[in-house]
Amino acid sequence: MLKVDNLRVKVEDKEILKGISLTVDDGELHVVMGPNGSGKSTLALTIAGHPKYQVVDGRILFEGEDITNMPPEERVKKGIFLSFQHPVEVEGVKVIQFLQRVLKNLKGFDEIQAYELIFNAVQELGLDESILARFLNVGFSGGERKKLEMLQAYLVKPKLLILDEPDSGVDVDSLKMIANVINKLHEEGTSILLITHYGRILEHLKPSRVHVIKEGKIVASGGVELVKMIEEKGFAAVEAL
Ligand code: ADP
Ligand code: MG
Ligand code: MG
Repeated sequence: MLKVDNLRVKVEDKEILKGISLTVDDGELHVVMGPNGSGKSTLALTIAGHPKYQVVDGRILFEGEDITNMPPEERVKKGIFLSFQHPVEVEGVKVIQFLQRVLKNLKGFDEIQAYELIFNAVQELGLDESILARFLNVGFSGGERKKLEMLQAYLVKPKLLILDEPDSGVDVDSLKMIANVINKLHEEGTSILLITHYGRILEHLKPSRVHVIKEGKIVASGGVELVKMIEEKGFAAVEAL
């Protein structure tokens, strides 16, 4: 599904990713952990094709196709969905309108079909439907923003879902909802790359593999035992491997 091969990335002339390789197979859930500033968001944004991140070496393959230089919109159309750490606020566009537009653009659904899908998903995920009438992200709490993003991901049903710290700054209920959507999509066959700073969300999930990134390099890959070790001894302990 996704193959990142010896990826080196510069931002404003500074090398941030220093040769990252990882492969996420069909339907796998991979977790990327690491201290602040290690390059986690850079990795996510580079896979999504953010123009600020300059690939200086290596490549990104998606379903066997080299997407390293593909515009971000095309990556979205191919089935890559990135949940942002800091979503944008749009005054004047209601959540329902926004979601209808997304479903029209990506799936070709008309307004009525989209409305039905959105309404059903809101019920299924146990969200408060009043969220649909609010302006996009305006005045949303951290938890509400994340819930909306997860709703969007659930509707879009991407082939590859990249989540950048969906668990940061959310309460226990939001965390459960986020984990629930990840599990549902995972069960439906979506491949997932989950970036997280904490191990807490992983109590609800079954990762295929865990990677630890430090200063732009993957310093360890393994199973959930890595998470336990980090929880107990901190990221510093991973260096010793
Ligand atoms: P993480 O998500 O692991 O906290 P980031 O990928 O956000 O780490 O950042 C890694 C490094 O790259 C940091 O030193 C950060 O300052 C730098 N960096 C990331 N994005 C930008 C940017 N858009 N402009 C300048 N520096 C950036
Ligand atoms: Mg950070
Ligand atoms: Mg980050």
